[in-house]
Parts: sequence; C-alpha cells; structure tokens
Amino acid sequence: MSLDALPEDGVPAETILAELGALRAGDLPTHGGRLFAYVYDPAIEGLDALTASAHALAAHVNGLDPTAFPSLLAVENALTGAAARLLGGGPATVGTVTGGGTESLILAVQAARDARPDVAHPRLVVPETAHAAFLKAAHLLRVAVDRVPVDPVTLKADPKATTKAIGPDTVLVACSAPSYAHGVVDPVSEIAAIAAAAGTRCHVDACFGGWTLPYLRRLGLPVPPFDLSVPGVTSISVDLHKYAYAPKGVSVLLHADAALRRPQYFASADWPGYTMLNAGLASTRSGGPIAAAYATLRHLGESGYRRLTARTLGAVRTLAAAVDAVDGLRPLVPPETTVVCLTSDDPGLDVFVLADELATRGWHTQPQMAYGHLPPTLHLTVTAAVAPTAGEFGPALAAAAAAARAHGPVVLPDGLAATAAALTPETLTPELVAGLAESLGVTGGGAPGATVNTLLNVAPPRLREQFLIEFLSLLQRPAVPAKN
Ligand SMILES: *Cc1c(COP(=O)(O)O)cnc(C)c1O
Repeated sequence: MSLDALPEDGVPAETILAELGALRAGDLPTHGGRLFAYVYDPAIEGLDALTASAHALAAHVNGLDPTAFPSLLAVENALTGAAARLLGGGPATVGTVTGGGTESLILAVQAARDARPDVAHPRLVVPETAHAAFLKAAHLLRVAVDRVPVDPVTLKADPKATTKAIGPDTVLVACSAPSYAHGVVDPVSEIAAIAAAAGTRCHVDACFGGWTLPYLRRLGLPVPPFDLSVPGVTSISVDLHKYAYAPKGVSVLLHADAALRRPQYFASADWPGYTMLNAGLASTRSGGPIAAAYATLRHLGESGYRRLTARTLGAVRTLAAAVDAVDGLRPLVPPETTVVCLTSDDPGLDVFVLADELATRGWHTQPQMAYGHLPPTLHLTVTAAVAPTAGEFGPALAAAAAAARAHGPVVLPDGLAATAAALTPETLTPELVAGLAESLGVTGGGAPGATVNTLLNVAPPRLREQFLIEFLSLLQRPAVPAKN
C-alpha cells in the first residue's frame, strides 16, 4: 500500500484519522490479551484516553533544554524518583529518562567505557541470554563482548564462568532480571559481588521485568535480590513502556550515584550555536511519551500495579498449565516471572507450525529460533490483559497442537533447501533475497509463517542476520503514490 504523505492540497482531519484507523486494522491486535509480544496491556478502562491527553499536552515540549521546559524536568524527576524507590535506590541514586531499553543499555555501556579512559580496548561481560541490545551497544561503541555460558538447566548466568571471563579490560559486567527470552532472573547478588571484587561496574538489565518483580515478590514469589540494594550493583534499567504499562518510548536508567552517571553526559560548546548538553542519545526529544508515562504511573499507583501483577501471575499459571496439558509440549523452564516459553519434545509437533495454527485461532506467540543447545521455542510475554482470556488459551492450544501434528513439521521445498544450503553471507545479494522473498510470498510485510521461520532457523546466525537486513531494506522504500 502506497500512502501519500504530501498531497498537493491538505486532507481534512476526519479523513486522515479514518485512513489511519483503517490501516491499523491490518496490524496485530494491541489490545484483547491475545498478542504475547510487542505490547503490554493492563486492560484498564480509560487509561488510553488519559495517556493520549497527557501525551498531547506535552507533545511539543522539547527535552533538549530542561530550563526552558521545567515541566518536563519535574515529570522526569518524578519518574526516576518512583523507579529508584521501587528498585532499591538510596539517597544518592540518580537517573535518566531515555527513549527505550536499548538506549538505556547503550548509555550504561557508554558510561562504563568512558569511566575507564585507561583501558584502550574495553570489554563487556554478559551472559549469552542477555538481550541483543547489549550486542548493539558493544557494536556501536566498539566495546568487545565476552559472552558467558548459562546454566544449561536453569538458563541463569553462571557466576563461576563470569569470574573467569572478567579481565583487566572489563569495564562492565551485566546480567538480566529477568531475561527477555525465558523470563529467568540471573543470580544478581553473586554476579555483582564478583564485579565489585574485580573493581568493575555491574549493570542489571531489568528493562523487561523491573516493574513487575517487586510486585511479584509482594505476592509471595521467591524473587531473589536483584536491584540497587544489592552491593556491587552500580546501575539498573527498567522500561516504563513494558510492565509499567506506559505507551511506547520511555525507559529509565538509574545509577547508584551521580559520579557513576557523570561520564554519560555529553556537552559541546565547540560550535557557533547553543552549547549542546545531553544525558541521553537524542538531543531534541518530545515530552509526549514522558508525560504519558507519568500519567500512567500516577493513575495506576502502587495498589494498581499490585492488582495488575496478581492478575498477570494468575494468567501465567493458567497458560503454563495449558502447555503442560498438551502431550509433547512443555515449558522450557518453569515460569518464574511473567514469561511462558514453550518447546516441543515431539518431532511430529513443530513449534513453528504450532505458532501458525495458534495465529489462525487468534493467538499470536513469538517464535524463537534454536540457539546453541537450546531448541526452537515459542515465547509468551504475559500481561494483565491476558487474565480474562487465559482460560480460552488451553482449548485453543490443544486444537492448534492437534492441527500442527496432523500437518506435520515443515519440509522445505527441495529447491529452497538447496538454495539455502549454498548461501553464505557473501553470496546473499539483495537480488537473491528479493527472489526468495517473492517465492515465499512475504513481500507485503506481515508475520512470517512456519516455512520462513524454518528457513531462518536452519540458517547460521550470521546468514539469518544478513537475510533479515536485506529483507527489511526491501520493505523500507519510499512510497510512490499513484497519480490521480
Ligand atoms: C525489551 C528489552 C530490552 C530493549 O528494550 P527496547 O525498549 O525494545 O529498546 C532490553 N533488555 C530486555 C531484558 C528487554 O526485555
């Protein structure tokens, strides 16, 4: 579909909103508790209207200069204050509001790198289950990464292996609370102690579950210490656009004290314009998402998050029981937070086919490719909105599994398998990817089906990365609207 963003004459407001609404109908459903990735929905009546109004009030406010817009400074300080209280901060704790988890992690790595100008070739130590945003940070900042194996059963970071991986050039050790892929909490106390003993910073990536772990603990779950109250933890990140249920575009990076944050700032007076001064990656930033996040937190309150977390936990248990009830399926690890990650032990029951069968029935899971010794899985991020529909998941899963068994695992067409086997990152040209995308029928965007997932799953990670880059580059082309 080619849209015209710049018509000769402007289009009336109602028409534009109707067009956008019609376009949205082709997306995955952001509400309704049947999409287990990308969206975090508390299903609270009136919250969308509140956040839309709050966003509109601050949309044109510019975070470039907090002295020009003290309203934004006050709101940001309220958000970092709330995050610090929730995540074990002390009187010295400081924070930065960022545009998302990836930005928070890039800044944590950058601050750690720049705090050590004595290290010529800085290195980052992370468990191999850490979010890929760390790899992006390391890539952008030219920091080398040491990936540490995790316990093969619990999938938690291994303290012994972490100790071994730390060297004189290590500027940061990180771990997850919890990991995105499996929802397990790394042994933060041990890792932070190891980092402290080595004299290096320790970042806890609580982007995913930082806003839900404290409430899970209050519900009686055995949540281990994971936050700034743990000795040796120097920074922690939490995405407000995840389990704080704020609209997209807000994360918080907390440092244990202002000296730790200091290298994160960038200032330049070395040009003829205003002195540029930023705490984060962006310079001009909208106040909209930040005001919307403030409205969300303030409207839900502690008791609201307690209730939402209780609902979420109930849904997790219902979904996990549904997985256990299907022969051949099981949770890869016992769900310990808000993720259900399921795998198949039955070669006749292919999880990628299962994902398609679930999607046909209106349930959208996230396929995760095989990695190292880990099998392919389906990831379910569970939010409070799932609670009312969780009971319907069991029958849908049973029906989808029966259909997936009847269908059998994906068998790649001969020609395709041969083409794929012969590919190397060097021979994977844009033209070849365009041809493949054409023959797979995925040129219009939309979720890839089991055939594409199977192809990606058998491709070595480097090839998979390059294939997806070429594919995205095909999708992202300037629209050429039809003349009329
Ligand atoms: C989502 C996530 C990130 C990255 O956050 P974005 O907001 O998508 O940039 C980093 N770490 C973890 C554990 C996450 O779940």
